[in-house]
Amino acid sequence: MLEFRQVHKAYATPQGPLEVLEGVDLELAAGESLALMGESGSGKSTLLHLAAGLDVPDRGDILLDGKRLSSLAEPARAALRRERLGLVFQQFHLIPSLSVRDNLTLQARLAEREDPDWTTMLLERLGLANMAGRYPEQLSGGQQQRLAIGRALALRPALLLADEPTGNLDEASADSVLALLGELVAESRCALLMVTHSARVAAPMDRRLILKRGQLCSA
Ligand code: ADP
Ligand code: MG
Repeated sequence: MLEFRQVHKAYATPQGPLEVLEGVDLELAAGESLALMGESGSGKSTLLHLAAGLDVPDRGDILLDGKRLSSLAEPARAALRRERLGLVFQQFHLIPSLSVRDNLTLQARLAEREDPDWTTMLLERLGLANMAGRYPEQLSGGQQQRLAIGRALALRPALLLADEPTGNLDEASADSVLALLGELVAESRCALLMVTHSARVAAPMDRRLILKRGQLCSA
């Protein structure tokens, strides 16, 4: 469902172009889980941003459901993103003025695709059912990240892109959040592309790839 073909990406810097991705090839099938590893600065977040259509490659093609993401204009990319993708980042990016429930359902309501049974199920599974009326600042870090995961799954995406989703949590909270993420992804039959530094987190995933010197190699 996601394909990178010889993707190149460089950033302009005062010292000249910084080549980050130098011919990345990747294929991710529906329902498949893939761990993306690599040193800090190797380009993992860049790759995820491109997969989400939040940025475009300099060269090469990115296909989502066979549609060439890289040649769509931003409104069309945004529509495809809403339709097919869930995004989770290291920073939770919750909206402080909205309740837990409203943070979870905002996108679904804007898209007029809210499914109240799915919302209720998510809140229960996330351990947030009795906090639906609270606000993000009243939650622990682990609870905030669970809410961010629930928000990403609220529209039942076909692909969840997660960038070091537990990088800001202590180890115990990280473990429980990741276990829950794995269960919900499996139950939703959602594909998963997750950046992680942890071999333990990567182990149960279908495939593990390392980004090194601008290219992907198997771990
Ligand atoms: P990772 O997520 O693996 O740590 P990133 O994709 O965030 O790596 O960054 C890869 C490299 O590109 C780093 O050297 C980073 O400093 C640089 N970089 C990332 N974003 C930009 C940008 N917008 N402008 C210039 N350089 C950037
Ligand atoms: Mg990163």
